[in-house]
Amino acid sequence: MMLIDGRDCGPCVSCCSFFTITELGKPAGVLCSHSTDHGCTIYADRPKACRVFYCAWRCWQEVPADWRPDRTGFVLGGRLAEQSFLSVTVDPASPEGWRVEPYYSTFRQWARDGAATGSPVVVFIGSRVIVLEPEGERDLGEVAPDEVLIRSPEGHIRKAPRVRPY
Ligand code: SF4
Ligand code: SF4
Repeated sequence: MMLIDGRDCGPCVSCCSFFTITELGKPAGVLCSHSTDHGCTIYADRPKACRVFYCAWRCWQEVPADWRPDRTGFVLGGRLAEQSFLSVTVDPASPEGWRVEPYYSTFRQWARDGAATGSPVVVFIGSRVIVLEPEGERDLGEVAPDEVLIRSPEGHIRKAPRVRPY
């Protein structure tokens, strides 16, 4: 993955806080117990979810330079990875912060742009999920641990039971 020169994490630890990390039993919105002022205390053995992740602010030029996640209150990711949507993972302590301008208008524009490529914008606030589409918002409500998000044949993101490998 190509990272943008000059965009370093610095004091930001948002991805170590806003996300649920199943391998660690860490809920969304709680700073990981392994995060310290000197970095990750289990860096060499950190879970795969941590190893593979860089937020979109670090690698997608369309994200404005002043949108570092510890300043915006949300972490962007997904479109550059295997997911077919752009994710906005919001700080649960500030669940409406993503609706502040200029963020909201930008997300709506990205949702309209993404419609051409089948790539909507999906907002995660803890376990609650809201899908932004060109026509508006679809609130999917809470996504339970035994559910996943899938794309329907019509191209909509929706909830479905998690299929276990047994
Ligand atoms: S959210 Fe982005 S900028 Fe912040 S620590 Fe994670 S990767 Fe770095
Ligand atoms: S294990 Fe390390 S990299 Fe992963 S969330 Fe915790 S502090 Fe962050």
